[in-house]
Amino acid sequence: MLIDSHAHLDSERYADDRAAMLARAQEAGVGAVLAIGIGEEPAEMHQALDLCREFNDKPGMPRLYASAGIYPHNTAEATPDALAKLDGLLAEPEVIACGEIGFDYYHEGASRETQRAGLIAQLEIAAARRRPILIHCRAKDGMTDAWHDLFEVLDQHWRPAGLGGVMHCFSGEWEQARRSLDLGFLVSFAGNLTYPKAQPLRDVAARMPLDGVLVETDAPWLAPAPNRGKRNEPAWVAQTAHVLAGVAGVSDKEIAEVTTKNFQRLFGLTPNVGN
Ligand SMILES: [Zn+2]
Repeated sequence: MLIDSHAHLDSERYADDRAAMLARAQEAGVGAVLAIGIGEEPAEMHQALDLCREFNDKPGMPRLYASAGIYPHNTAEATPDALAKLDGLLAEPEVIACGEIGFDYYHEGASRETQRAGLIAQLEIAAARRRPILIHCRAKDGMTDAWHDLFEVLDQHWRPAGLGGVMHCFSGEWEQARRSLDLGFLVSFAGNLTYPKAQPLRDVAARMPLDGVLVETDAPWLAPAPNRGKRNEPAWVAQTAHVLAGVAGVSDKEIAEVTTKNFQRLFGLTPNVGN
């Protein structure tokens, strides 16, 4: 069984075929999906939880979990109301993670100061609710300042919680992967691991300990190599897992087992999370 640790299942790009898309994931051996609850804005943070409630009693579907969080671009909207909504969502049993949160210095959709304040406010809520976090960190090309600032904030405001998290869609260098592991984080690889120009990322993946990795789609974005450019979906996490298995020198079955175990360990889930 595989787990897709990061998919935007509430995207309107699934409006016409969401149930069929989830059924395809189940057929492809994806036993669980973490649905990301950021929506287009904080007012939509509940949408991933809604999908859990809609689909988790239906047969032939992967088990769905949800997150909730305020994306870096939206941190100007991290009002007291939005933060209270986040707090309420994190109290729900299906909402196992706070995210995706962090820093985006590539697009810089909000000022760096605003992103920092929004991140710290959410770390406090996640710590109080005992929920691991999902980190989005994107630097400008060739720069590492976003990572530098991220680790500074996490060291001070998150390490003491002892809850760890996930570096989602990891695209950094070994130094950042190593620091993530040191913080008790898992490093999650997405479809970009499969792209021809991603050899430096595959070299980082090859150095990762097996108990530190996850796989994800980040669907509907970042479809793995054979389907690059198309709308992505959780069924295709198998292609990323296959490439990760290759660089790690283990079988596809072993990658599926370790990534599933890692996910369950981080979120304190019982081993039988699939259907
Ligand atoms: Zn995402």
